[in-house]
Amino acid sequence: MTVIAADQLKDLVEQVKPWLGSGAVSNYLPELSQARPDDLAVAVDFGEDGVVTAGDRIAKFTLQSVVKVFTLLLALHHRGKDYVFERVGCDQALGSYNSLESFVRTSGVPVNPFVNAGALVIVDMLPGHDPDDRVASVLDFVRALANNPAIGVDLGTARSELMLADQNRALAYYLRGHNFVSTTVEELLWAYCQMCAIEVDVVDLATAGRMLSESTDICVMGEMLDASHLRLVRRLMLSTGMYEASGHYACEVGIPAKCGVSGAMMGVVRHHKGIGIYGPALDASGNSIGGLRLMQLLSKLLDVD
Ligand code: GLU
Repeated sequence: MTVIAADQLKDLVEQVKPWLGSGAVSNYLPELSQARPDDLAVAVDFGEDGVVTAGDRIAKFTLQSVVKVFTLLLALHHRGKDYVFERVGCDQALGSYNSLESFVRTSGVPVNPFVNAGALVIVDMLPGHDPDDRVASVLDFVRALANNPAIGVDLGTARSELMLADQNRALAYYLRGHNFVSTTVEELLWAYCQMCAIEVDVVDLATAGRMLSESTDICVMGEMLDASHLRLVRRLMLSTGMYEASGHYACEVGIPAKCGVSGAMMGVVRHHKGIGIYGPALDASGNSIGGLRLMQLLSKLLDVD
């Protein structure tokens, strides 16, 4: 197996740093706007060969849209593929992730589980009697996949997002109006905002990414996750994980990955490897500039075909 040395990974970070100046941190939430645009950290989990990190590995950040990978996997596990994909599509999104105009296909369902409309439909499917119950099941799942019981929710960020969630609120009303979701709008949003605000570091993401790389069923919290669901999630990450830049990313990089507006990025590499990146300077599509460039370099180093 190709294992990257710590010095090599540090070199990659140094190579990428000059590009960060062309991006900007997300400013739609006060908590996200406080991020430092020149931060860049990466971890690669090689399973039995250990975890290699570079940059500020203990920096913490919220998952934001990366959580949609975990919520999709949980929904697939509890409801099955047919149930899930009768209610969301698996197509690329043309507009931005939270746009009201472009989130439904002609058949009426949200285009995929990674645009906000699709993610809200997925949250509605998760087991639990109230928002906190649903959040607890996602949090336990993330903790188990990342092998870190200390992972928690940044409630300040979650509350802030709830107050400023008018676009998501509009989506949720639309979805309820068309019977795509049954949870009340405020309960659905509070669950979603807390899930987005789950706080991790790059090692957590790398470890969770490695778990998702398995080609056989995996045991998480005493339950077997189906290999076919893991494969489906990886394929969706590759085809739709980078907002409207997904097609370009798939051609240029080829590592199934999902990013979030906090600058979080999780990559899944076959043969038991996972990548976690934090780079809050974002490009115009909302993708981490450092993250995209690091993924491209890692794709070559790890011989991703
Ligand atoms: N919490 C964010 C929202 O729903 C997540 C967006 C993202 O990371 O793409 O607006």
